[in-house]
Amino acid sequence: MPDIYRCGKCWRTFDDEKLRVLPGVRCPYCGYNIIYMVRKPTIKVVKAI
Ligand SMILES: [Zn+2]
Repeated sequence: MPDIYRCGKCWRTFDDEKLRVLPGVRCPYCGYNIIYMVRKPTIKVVKAI
């Protein structure tokens, strides 16, 4: 499952395939170099007790 990243400046999200295209860790949209890794929202089945 690919990780999802979020730019710290423009707050756009992208996956790690886009991130790999560029040298270093930078936002592919604005070039900002502070990237947050966010988990893809997964559907979890939680049993109510
Ligand atoms: Zn950005």
